Amino acid sequence: MRRKLVIGNWKMNGSRTGNTVLLSGIVAGLASAKADCAVCAPAPYLAQCQAELTGTPLAWGAQDVSAHASGAYTGEVAASMLQDFGCRYALVGHSERRAYHGESNAVVAQKAQAALAAGLIPVVCVGETLAEREAGQTGAVVGAQLQAVLDLLDNAALAKIVLAYEPVWAIGTGKTATPAMAQEVHALLRQQVAERSAEAASGMQILYGGSMKPENAGELLAQADIDGGLIGGAALKAADFLAIIRAA
Ligand code: PGA
Repeated sequence: MRRKLVIGNWKMNGSRTGNTVLLSGIVAGLASAKADCAVCAPAPYLAQCQAELTGTPLAWGAQDVSAHASGAYTGEVAASMLQDFGCRYALVGHSERRAYHGESNAVVAQKAQAALAAGLIPVVCVGETLAEREAGQTGAVVGAQLQAVLDLLDNAALAKIVLAYEPVWAIGTGKTATPAMAQEVHALLRQQVAERSAEAASGMQILYGGSMKPENAGELLAQADIDGGLIGGAALKAADFLAIIRAA
């Protein structure tokens, strides 16, 4: 049985004082939670996460990581630095990184590899745009995004990653994929991993992201191949985030 995992993606939101209120609110409500959970905070706040979350059931992670180990890459943050601040996860290939920072499938795969090399769990995000879905290209698009990762990682590394399916048209829009639509893509992704390694596929946590909220989380998380959520907007309110974690 795969454990459920719920990760909050704060994106570029937060402040020192606001983070303390949010983190303590989440932690206070976690006592009865069965799912694993984490928040991915902006890099400057990872030290604060480490200070305030060490010893609690809430893990933390970054929203991006450099594909390079160290050196002349101004503005980049290395996986070893995230590891220094106790991160467990690093998102890689979020659609906002792909769209606004030109991250290719190959770069995203390199980032996943760099995260693994530093002992982090990469959460590899894939997803199609609305135009791609309407053109019937969903399977081809997410398949190519996943394939770049399969091409770079060996089976042992593959078994350590988390995947997140986030249809771009559902992110921050209030439009959620129906449970059946999401399940269909999750099953496709798991099948593609299985063609390489049945073991990695059966153990892999595949999260759904895109306007997941307390009202729709239960139905999505009940699908056979949906192993958790990657939550944007609803992760910024402790009560909403906790409600999703409890639904998992
Ligand atoms: P959303 O964002 O929950 O606000 O749609 C999800 C994400 O982008 O990870």
